[in-house]
Amino acid sequence: MTNNIDSIVKKSKEVSLKWRDIPAPQRGEFIRQFGEELRLQKEALAQTITKEARKIKTESLGEVQEAIDMCDFAVGLSRQLYGLTMPSERPNHRLQELWHPLGVVGCITAFNFPMAVFAWNFCLAAVCGNSVIWKPSPHSNECAKSIKAAWDKVSGDFSDLILILEGGNEEAVSICKDNRITLVSATGSTKMGKELAPIVSARLGKLLLELGGNNAAIVCPSANLDLTIKGIAFSACGTTGQRCTSLRRLFVHKEIYDDCVKRLEKCFDDLIIGCPTKEDSQIGPLISEESYNSMQKVLNSLRNKGVQVLGGERLEIESPEEYYVKPALVLVDDIVDEMLSETFAPILYVKRYEDLKDAIHMQNNVSQGLSSSIFTNDMRESELFLSESGSDCGIANVNIGTSGAEIGGAFGGEKDTGGGRESGSDAWKNYMRRVTATINYGEELPLAQGVEFDES
Ligand code: NAD
Repeated sequence: MTNNIDSIVKKSKEVSLKWRDIPAPQRGEFIRQFGEELRLQKEALAQTITKEARKIKTESLGEVQEAIDMCDFAVGLSRQLYGLTMPSERPNHRLQELWHPLGVVGCITAFNFPMAVFAWNFCLAAVCGNSVIWKPSPHSNECAKSIKAAWDKVSGDFSDLILILEGGNEEAVSICKDNRITLVSATGSTKMGKELAPIVSARLGKLLLELGGNNAAIVCPSANLDLTIKGIAFSACGTTGQRCTSLRRLFVHKEIYDDCVKRLEKCFDDLIIGCPTKEDSQIGPLISEESYNSMQKVLNSLRNKGVQVLGGERLEIESPEEYYVKPALVLVDDIVDEMLSETFAPILYVKRYEDLKDAIHMQNNVSQGLSSSIFTNDMRESELFLSESGSDCGIANVNIGTSGAEIGGAFGGEKDTGGGRESGSDAWKNYMRRVTATINYGEELPLAQGVEFDES
């Protein structure tokens, strides 16, 4: 295995040295063609996602679309890797920032977005002039190979710009240890982040972490409940509750609590749970028996405490090896410990609130800080939610659920979510190194801050 990583890193380093000499807009042209190839293969790639991650068809197609959108974004970006020019305090001087590639980027990804998260990383890393070594989830090797095959169709001499290191934890650790890999971008559980971060930090490597969430929404009395119920159902149950941004906690104002819970119960009852390849399925199975067991462990612990749990049971649909579940609604009077950690399954805790400030406090009072939402038609409430006293998450939405972000904005979260930002906006800066250059085009050598140093 050590030999394997060694030869992969050598190859990746080699190609990165050639790739960085290609002008950025030409690098963008490769990514444009990659995007075209993904468009041509959209259906087939989506089928591979459904096969491995068990996502329903429309979500798998959406995931490939996200990778295509990232290509388009990165093509434009390839002409916009801007560095600032600042006024110098010295005469005949120019002060300027330059952005240069890092070299080799290591990308460790989770099972639940087996293509899109790689595309966030690869498209930016590539236009910024880097090569990428990809360690996909052990559940997603076929997705990774399909993406690499699409790249190989358009990459000419630069096939090695994507190199795949298949494996599990040991392989991820080997990426983290290797000081030829300048940046490690890792997506997965907080537990994984806490284990890998010290390894990269020990060699002072760069880190980009996209870790677990424990996302909440607040429903205010003025909310449009039709829109709200749809937003909650998709966020809590879509992708079988297996998105980092899945909605896990709901705080509902006491005036509308009963109505909201009644409608949610009906909505959860009506969801179509079935084989993800079937056109009408809205929810597929959990990824594994292990996921199912961790969901049931939490629900049993809640029941033992006398907490009201609606749903959550296993459904015998399709093959007996797969774990289909009815999403669970958990009605709590008080905050319970189970609400404070991420269970990667469709469990939605619902609690009443009276005062919006209390609801915001409960929302923020967890160790994770990824995504959050408020449903309201009251401008004062939405502005408070978005203010510095509001949500402490990296994502704060109004009248939209917690999941389903667009690629244009920077994606990521605070606290135990890791602090990284990927995808749109200026996330590209993570994949480059900044050089501050001062150029003296005069005949004198004035020193900064008026310091005198006369050699005579
Ligand atoms: P996971 O942590 O089990 O695995 C993620 C990746 O890390 C895999 O490639 C895995 O092989 C590797 N890995 C896991 N534990 C490791 C260890 N101890 N040492 C070395 N490598 C290790 O996560 P998963 O089950 O694939 O995905 C679900 C998790 O990922 C959830 O917590 C979810 O919130 C998170 N996630 C976060 C984001 C985000 O952008 N914030 C996106 C997707 C998923």
